[in-house]
Amino acid sequence: MSAGSLRDAAWLREEPLARLMGVLDRDGEEARVVGGAVRNALLGEPIGDVDLATTAPPDEVIRRAKATGFKPVPTGIDHGTVTVVVDSHPFEVTTLRQDVETFGRHAKVAFGRDWKADAGRRDFTMNALSCSADGTVHDYVGGISDLEARRVRFIGRADQRIAEDYLRILRFFRFHAAYGRGELDPEGVRACIAGRGGLDQLSRERVRMELLKLLIAPHAVPVLATMSEAGLLLSLFGGVSHLASFANMGKVEAAIGAPNDPVQRLGALGVWVVEDAERLWRRLRLTNAEHERLVSMGDGWWRVSPADEQAGRALLYRLGPERFLDRVLIAWTRSPSGDRDPAWHDLAMLPARWVAPVFPLKAADFLKRGVEKSPALGKALRDAEAAWIAADFPADDIAVAAIADAAAKG
Ligand code: ATP
Ligand code: MG
Repeated sequence: MSAGSLRDAAWLREEPLARLMGVLDRDGEEARVVGGAVRNALLGEPIGDVDLATTAPPDEVIRRAKATGFKPVPTGIDHGTVTVVVDSHPFEVTTLRQDVETFGRHAKVAFGRDWKADAGRRDFTMNALSCSADGTVHDYVGGISDLEARRVRFIGRADQRIAEDYLRILRFFRFHAAYGRGELDPEGVRACIAGRGGLDQLSRERVRMELLKLLIAPHAVPVLATMSEAGLLLSLFGGVSHLASFANMGKVEAAIGAPNDPVQRLGALGVWVVEDAERLWRRLRLTNAEHERLVSMGDGWWRVSPADEQAGRALLYRLGPERFLDRVLIAWTRSPSGDRDPAWHDLAMLPARWVAPVFPLKAADFLKRGVEKSPALGKALRDAEAAWIAADFPADDIAVAAIADAAAKG
């Protein structure tokens, strides 16, 4: 793809985007693809969500969408955003706007027709490119040359742009980790350090989203090291971060062919003991499922060893495959063995070759052995299960009956 043009881009001419552009980009109004899709297309990276900007005011976007049989959903109407669903593909369509005043992240906006002003409101030069239906790329801020140099640079003065929205601190590092090359822009780094006190004002949901994206970016390891030196990780986590464990997590994931998992990586970076998981949960407003995974990662990973295969099976039985992998990988990242260690590799792959059986005894098995319906019944079941696990999950009836007999006697 030649710099500055997407004339040969097939995705731009494909349904359903082309149909939506056809409807919005006519009759006195203009529509363009903006932001990440243009950036990624020029870089040859996979394109995620496609966002559009248009001169048409939101009510006109809604009118045209309805008239064509698309489904408009006013997802951010205060900011001029309508999500238009075309053949079950959602597109965010945002009317051009110009800031009137800015108070932190709450910008007072007026609708406009000025593409340059829209570009100027965006965060980084590489995020401010727009692309017309015919593939012409418009660059008002030097975004194409920064993209070619893979340089993440604030539009305008970094300190001012950060003061408008402190989330841009995190976005600066996130985009560099994803698309940057070489050193971070020094002016940007200085401004992020100077503005780091503003991180506390951010909504925890926004921080969570940016951070989880950062953790799976290809160059996250050196970028997090810089953030740590800059005092930013301490501000975000309120505790210690374990950079070596984080770096190892990427390696062990690759060694077993596991996908990049942001929660696993967050555990490697921020969780040593269960208390760390609780703190991150509160500070980042993690989901319940994320919280539970982190708690499980912090719970005794130091006892996991690849030397004892039977203990591995017992762990897999107790935790289930997902938690088991979380626990084993975090232990592996903190062991002295490297990512090529065959014993750790075998342990991490255990769920692929062994499925935990279901405990074969039920309450009825103890009632018929004379145990009363009382706390003793629960105890007998628990004792029997522990004995069955310790015996490495015997399946034959005689062994299971012997375990039940012993547990029933108390
Ligand atoms: P991703 O692939 O991660 O979604 P993206 O560039 O699409 O990358 P989004 O967070 O989806 O990133 O934002 C879409 C666009 O909106 C950005 O490219 C940028 O132009 C603009 N933008 C988003 N957040 C901000 C912000 N906090 N300040 C200024 N501009 C922003
Ligand atoms: Mg996006």
